[in-house]
Amino acid sequence: MCIINGVPQASGSFLASLFTSFFEMLSNRVLSGLSRTANRSGVRMMSFDLSDTQREYQAAALKFSKEVMLPAAAHHDVTGEFPWEIVKQAHSLGLMNPQIPEECGGPGLNNVETALVVEALSYGCSGIQLAIMGPSLAIAPVLIAGNPEQKKKYLGMLAEEPLIASYCVSEPGAGSDVNGVKTRAEKKGDEWVINGSKMWITGGGYAKWFFVLARTNPDPKCPPGKAFTAFVVDGDATGISRGKKEINMGQRCADTRAITFEDVRVPAANVLGAEGAGFKVAMAAFDLTRPGVAAGALGVAWRALDEASKYSLERKTFGTQIANHQGVSFMLADMAINLELARLITYRAANDVDKGVRSSYYASIAKCFAADTANTAAANAVQIFGGNGFNTEYPVEKLMRDAKIYQIYEGTSQIQRMVIARTLLQTVAQTGTASTF
Ligand SMILES: Cc1cc2nc3c(=O)[nH]c(=O)nc-3n(C[C@H](O)[C@H](O)[C@H](O)COP(=O)(O)OP(=O)(O)OC[C@H]3O[C@@H](n4cnc5c(N)ncnc54)[C@H](O)[C@@H]3O)c2cc1C
Repeated sequence: MCIINGVPQASGSFLASLFTSFFEMLSNRVLSGLSRTANRSGVRMMSFDLSDTQREYQAAALKFSKEVMLPAAAHHDVTGEFPWEIVKQAHSLGLMNPQIPEECGGPGLNNVETALVVEALSYGCSGIQLAIMGPSLAIAPVLIAGNPEQKKKYLGMLAEEPLIASYCVSEPGAGSDVNGVKTRAEKKGDEWVINGSKMWITGGGYAKWFFVLARTNPDPKCPPGKAFTAFVVDGDATGISRGKKEINMGQRCADTRAITFEDVRVPAANVLGAEGAGFKVAMAAFDLTRPGVAAGALGVAWRALDEASKYSLERKTFGTQIANHQGVSFMLADMAINLELARLITYRAANDVDKGVRSSYYASIAKCFAADTANTAAANAVQIFGGNGFNTEYPVEKLMRDAKIYQIYEGTSQIQRMVIARTLLQTVAQTGTASTF
């Protein structure tokens, strides 16, 4: 075989044509890749480096996390007290809801930058992080479907002051199965009247406004894509009652409550997007927020790895540090492997959002994998701490309690796998293969 003009020439004519077409294809791909890069400002450019600005956001958030949140974490875990003072400080530093666009008065960070902030805050305490960043899930549908007035009003007030907003979709009888939502909204003149009960609402005790999903077509045969409408509801509207604070296993200072709507009147101007399009709005929000939830889980896994590594270098058994026992160091190595992989997929999913690529598949892989990673990492950290790991004087049992919720809220790990499997099987049916990078 010889090479002419960079193209290998095989002896047989079949092989020669195969190599020629392969090289042609490669050069075409390079050319089309270059023009795509030029046209769409680097949709698929691959870089593993953070920009200087991104590193600065990360460093600022980590400093706040270690110096302010971490020392307060045990107190808020034991008391369940909502960390208002820390929330206010985070807001004044631009670390609360930094994704609110500049035109609404916010810092205007993109999804990757927001994920970096969330990960760093979660390192110090994922419960306090949820208190600070919980409004993200209410912000997302307004970003997706809000008109300029709604964005300016409802996102503007969060940018202006350290206020809470909540996403009200789950109900006592409907979590994974959102089509089972029973809360109703009926149109009366220029208003809608909402009745129903929501459950597990993060930040519910303090929300200044709620994103609410309600059924507006009573016909049970109506498809979900047409049966629900999304609303922004002011927190002080007559007829809203806030239930008692739930006592949860982890992330205990982030306020979770039932919210009841009894003849709550909402102006027609507060419909988000079109009447009947609420289900799509509520679901599309997850494409924006799941990379952030994955980032929260990364913070827990990262902290677990740091705590366990440090402890393993101090604690001695059989005359040596436990880090020198392969059974322990391999656990640490597995934690590191999974943390690094979870980071890659999380930043990729966040980057897809920033590039305008519809990303349910990668957002679900990121959320699912990061959640599992945090749970395994926290459980391994407890194991490496031995008896001390089981004790509240040490930080790792809290990590294990905090990690669990990542496999439940914003879609359980089973629901993420359903989303992944659905996209996977559609792709295979259409293209014959699971995935190309
Ligand atoms: C601390 C906390 C905060 C929350 N914050 C909010 C919030 O702010 N706003 C909000 O709207 N909701 C919130 N939620 C609700 C949360 O999103 C739901 O709990 C979650 O979606 C699961 O719903 P469920 O509890 O009804 O469980 P179910 O839907 O009843 O599921 C029970 C089990 O069955 C599995 N399962 C269900 N269907 C399937 C299926 N088809 N295939 C395989 N397995 C399945 C689930 O994975 C789970 O393991 C919060 C929950 C908690 C605990």
